[in-house]
Amino acid sequence: RLLPLAFVLACIIVFNVIWLTLRRLDLRHETKAALRSGNLRLVYQPVVELATGRCVGAEALIRWQQRDGSYINPEVFIPVAEQSALIGQISTFVARRACEDLGNLLRTHPEAHLSLNMTAYDVTSGDIVRTLEDTFGRAGVPPTSVWLELTERSLIDFETSCGKLSALRDAGYRIVIDDFGTGYSNLQYLQEMKLDALKIDKSFVDVIGRQTANRSVIETIIELATTLELDIVAEGIETQAQLSFLRQRNVRLGQGYFIARPMELADFVAFYAAWKDGAPEEVTWVA
Ligand code: C2E
Ligand code: MG
Ligand code: MG
Ligand code: MG
Repeated sequence: RLLPLAFVLACIIVFNVIWLTLRRLDLRHETKAALRSGNLRLVYQPVVELATGRCVGAEALIRWQQRDGSYINPEVFIPVAEQSALIGQISTFVARRACEDLGNLLRTHPEAHLSLNMTAYDVTSGDIVRTLEDTFGRAGVPPTSVWLELTERSLIDFETSCGKLSALRDAGYRIVIDDFGTGYSNLQYLQEMKLDALKIDKSFVDVIGRQTANRSVIETIIELATTLELDIVAEGIETQAQLSFLRQRNVRLGQGYFIARPMELADFVAFYAAWKDGAPEEVTWVA
């Protein structure tokens, strides 16, 4: 009697695998089309100095808007693109567009930075240094103004990424570990690679202010960054309580909906003008 049941289960599993594979192929196809037809664009989320509110730069975030107006989340299509060389084309697109968008601001404000999200492909297979030189270098943007965000996962191929990362750093670009604390636990790279900053993952910021919060992990990450003399950025700040907590612990930089959401280029340029010397007067910043 169990046999028909096992058969049905097997069929469901096979069907699902086929469906997922097709969906993935389809998504890859659609992403290619989106690249060609200009449906991919960038929005910018301000990064501020937590002590003063001073805007110090922005993170470029990709948006894919479909013809019906709905969005496909980057957390859906980036991992699919990462399984092929398509991700290289996306990263090149992002670098070029961000440079077109903010090159002027970065040239006239060398104290400002632009953060770009990079993937394992970029630090192993792609010719990332050349891509950056061809865009930012040619546009006269100082390499120190370009921060490259890499997740711990993208450093798994340690040997290969080590060489690429030192080439990037030698050229002057800044390296930031994104979503720090959520990757694999081999922290050896922290000692061996020359890094500039750690970005504390939103999940650790989320627990601040909760009744039963266990704050020891976030406090340890802050301590680790301080000991290693790395700059710290906190992501996903959504409440005043989180902002105050991070400020009290001297976390230098942060971003999140409480401060500003990702926005269109024109809105970011206006935001930067208003916040570049500190939070504007009408905003109560001091806690
Ligand atoms: P990420 O680099 O960790 O980016 C932060 C994500 O958190 C962004 O989502 C941002 O919109 C969101 N966020 C920022 N502040 C808050 C907040 O206060 N609350 C909440 N709930 N969310 C907040 P987004 O734009 O959907 O991007 C998701 C991920 O997709 C990024 O995570 C990054 O890994 C990837 N991604 C985005 N753009 C690019 C890109 O241009 N290239 C590559 N390779 N990956 C990208
Ligand atoms: Mg990021
Ligand atoms: Mg992040
Ligand atoms: Mg994150």
